[in-house]
Amino acid sequence: MSNLEAEINSKEKLFLEEISTLKNINDLNTIKDVYLKKYMRVLYSNLKTVKDLEEKKNLGKIINDFKKLLELKISETEDRFSLKTTSSEYDFTIRKDSIKLGSGHPLIKLYKKIEEILISMGFSVVQGPEVELDKYNFEMLNMPSHHPARDMQDTFYITAPNVLLRSHTSSVQIRTMLEKSPPIQIISPGTVYRVDDIDPQHTPMFYQVEGLMVAEGISFANLKAVLITLLKEVFGESIEVRFRPTYYPYTEPSAAIDMSCTECGKRGCRTCGYSGWITVLGSGMVHPNVLEGVGYDSSKYSGFAFGLGLNRLALIYYGLGEIRKLYENDISLWDQI
Ligand SMILES: [Zn+2]
Repeated sequence: MSNLEAEINSKEKLFLEEISTLKNINDLNTIKDVYLKKYMRVLYSNLKTVKDLEEKKNLGKIINDFKKLLELKISETEDRFSLKTTSSEYDFTIRKDSIKLGSGHPLIKLYKKIEEILISMGFSVVQGPEVELDKYNFEMLNMPSHHPARDMQDTFYITAPNVLLRSHTSSVQIRTMLEKSPPIQIISPGTVYRVDDIDPQHTPMFYQVEGLMVAEGISFANLKAVLITLLKEVFGESIEVRFRPTYYPYTEPSAAIDMSCTECGKRGCRTCGYSGWITVLGSGMVHPNVLEGVGYDSSKYSGFAFGLGLNRLALIYYGLGEIRKLYENDISLWDQI
């Protein structure tokens, strides 16, 4: 073995050791400079001085093999550091679509808005069971068995006549009043069930938000103040609100609450049945029978209650037209909302 060949062998060992313990890109550039440029230049100039043709040929092959080894190892190392931007394996210029994070369902978004407004007015949120006893769903709400008002809410029974799917979240109000003394100021949101065919305006399962406020000296003026504020905060200051006498067994007096149609501005359209008004809430002063039934002194305490159908309100709020659109999970529609 010639001196040069021995020197190349020891350089190769050194090179392999250096490149395998490489820490960063700057070191790689230094290695490229030292071995591929400077050292190869030295080797080629040494090769020129070799007189023996056979030896020259042999050394030339050794130098070329060494150069190939250098290039291969450097290229592999560049890949290892993901720096080789010319490699066909990687294209660092490709733009990646941003990840869609998703968002809340429109019903939830509207509910959260309503919840936030009512909480700001001092209401707290109470939940209750969806499978309910007749006692809490009807009887204690001034609807004893065979009361004709029960027909207003066609009910799903789990085991008739006592266990049912709640037809409204008023049952939560009864449970709360049985547990606590006045003052009470709660909302009870949740799923309710009524026997109904699915059509553009109805589904057998829907969402309600009901509210109850009971204390000394609560009057219809408090009811009006809370509900007008709620509707104007949700739909804007420009809407008009009117209270219409109606009948519910658990309130006396009772009022249906209409809002001027947001679709047509009271000119009349399909949404409002060409009347200019949309009924959005049921409300009233809690019936003395209900207060007495939970052990409250109705001569001392009074209160108001209200209930809104969240699905129906969402149709108006988002201008959806049909209730089933809330359940079709059309992502392109949700993106617009
Ligand atoms: Zn209208």
